[in-house]
Amino acid sequence: MSTDTPAELPVAVIGAGPVGLAAAAELLERGLTPIIFESGQTPAAAVASWGHIRLFSPWQYDVDAAARRLLASTGWQEPDGETLPTGAELLEQYLRPLAAVPAIAAALHTSTRVLSVSREGLDKTRTSGRETTPFLVRVRNDEGTVTDYRARAVIDASGTWSTPNPLGQAGLPAVGEVEAFEAGLITGPLPDVTGRDRDRFAGKHVLVVGAGHSAANTLLELGELAAQARGTRISWAIRNASPAGVYGGGDLDGLPARGALGSRLRTLVEEGRIELHTSFTITGFKPSDTLAVIGSTPAGEQQLDVDLLVPATGFRPDLDMLREIRLDLDPAVEAPRELGPLIDPEFHSCGTVAPHGAKMLSHPEKDFYIVGMKSYGRAPTFLMATGYEQVRSIAAALAGDQQAANDVQLVLPETGVCSTDLGSSCDAPAAEGPAESCCGTSAAPESEPAASSCCGTDTAPESQFLGIPTGLAHGRSAQRGS
Ligand SMILES: Cc1cc2nc3c(=O)[nH]c(=O)nc-3n(C[C@H](O)[C@H](O)[C@H](O)COP(=O)(O)OP(=O)(O)OC[C@H]3O[C@@H](n4cnc5c(N)ncnc54)[C@H](O)[C@@H]3O)c2cc1C
Repeated sequence: MSTDTPAELPVAVIGAGPVGLAAAAELLERGLTPIIFESGQTPAAAVASWGHIRLFSPWQYDVDAAARRLLASTGWQEPDGETLPTGAELLEQYLRPLAAVPAIAAALHTSTRVLSVSREGLDKTRTSGRETTPFLVRVRNDEGTVTDYRARAVIDASGTWSTPNPLGQAGLPAVGEVEAFEAGLITGPLPDVTGRDRDRFAGKHVLVVGAGHSAANTLLELGELAAQARGTRISWAIRNASPAGVYGGGDLDGLPARGALGSRLRTLVEEGRIELHTSFTITGFKPSDTLAVIGSTPAGEQQLDVDLLVPATGFRPDLDMLREIRLDLDPAVEAPRELGPLIDPEFHSCGTVAPHGAKMLSHPEKDFYIVGMKSYGRAPTFLMATGYEQVRSIAAALAGDQQAANDVQLVLPETGVCSTDLGSSCDAPAAEGPAESCCGTSAAPESEPAASSCCGTDTAPESQFLGIPTGLAHGRSAQRGS
């Protein structure tokens, strides 16, 4: 066994997405040594999967400050801050160059999946000496070789992309769901139906399930495909009684872009080019050559026979690999306990909370942090810029600079809005003052949580587009009975 003391050991970073790579840059700037594990064959494998989607936050909010400084030394040309990249552009113009910076490349292990995290020699129940015992990070590479690494701290930035919510009711997979997925009748989230995955969808009857941003995107793209490829048929199933939240306000919408997109979707439905099934709760699947989708509806049980189903029902964190770590999570959202109430989709529908860092993200397990998309647990409104501030603060804390760790700053624009597109109820900039704003600028101490809602007004001018919509006005609590 190595005789390294914990302080000499590297900081393990799980995942080389935007936030994991930013964590590595922040650690390097603090003189700490990262070791990064990425399950994909290349960095930012999750972003690569949704490369065809255009971001709604412009470049200036998509680049971490320490990463920018690190890249500057390589002659990197920063993209124009006002433009909106696609996922593929984010990858090619920022994440891949960042992963190729020698100090990061030397620390990055691709095709390496973290299986579990623990403390060396101590299971979860052992307390004595725990805080000074190195972490043990067990990984498996693509050849199947399992290796244990030691680390002084662990930053879990593994995202939620690979763990979509199940389609069945009650948060559980419906009967036959796993088999239907394994048979290829249920796709992954956000397929590129007019590009990379076109052949899979052309001429097929496709059912989209979900009532948010992803569902709307996929439906509109399928609408394009159906106009080109004969025989393509589109169905859309939602649990709500009405799709109004997804359509937005149409011509009356405070944001023209959102209104236009919502109107396009509404038109496709009203012209019968999308068959909408409301109040449809999936109870089972019968997979064969095609897929029979069984749903409970107010009119009784219904069956939809389709070729393919695209799930757009959100994501949840994979907590299995953290079984031996002492976590303190919000019981509903599965985010760190203090963060959970600030982002709970029952009550919030916008993408920003007060700035937060090491303190709010800490767990009973000292020097262990969940960051990035995964830090929001089941809440859908995470922003990269939020993650960059999380890892800046954590790197400072690990370097012993508590003052910098506690001095968390919100870097989003004061009059920003939460999203560009349909589905969000909070696209209109908030009224004066950061407290009620969804995208305020002011620095805030860790101890001052955000105001509870961001939907301030529908009269303010359109400005920045930023944030992820959930399609819910003031959270799900405002949607009851709709
Ligand atoms: C379609 C879409 C559009 C979005 N648009 C925006 C936007 O406009 N602006 C914005 O700010 N945010 C946006 N987001 C939200 C969020 O910022 C992104 O999802 C971002 O990629 C999150 O970064 P991350 O590093 O936390 O996680 P990810 O990008 O998901 O990266 C996690 C990485 O960890 C790897 N991994 C997973 N499990 C393991 C494991 N066990 N071991 C090792 N590696 C593992 C994955 O392969 C992946 O590369 C968007 C999200 C989606 C899905």
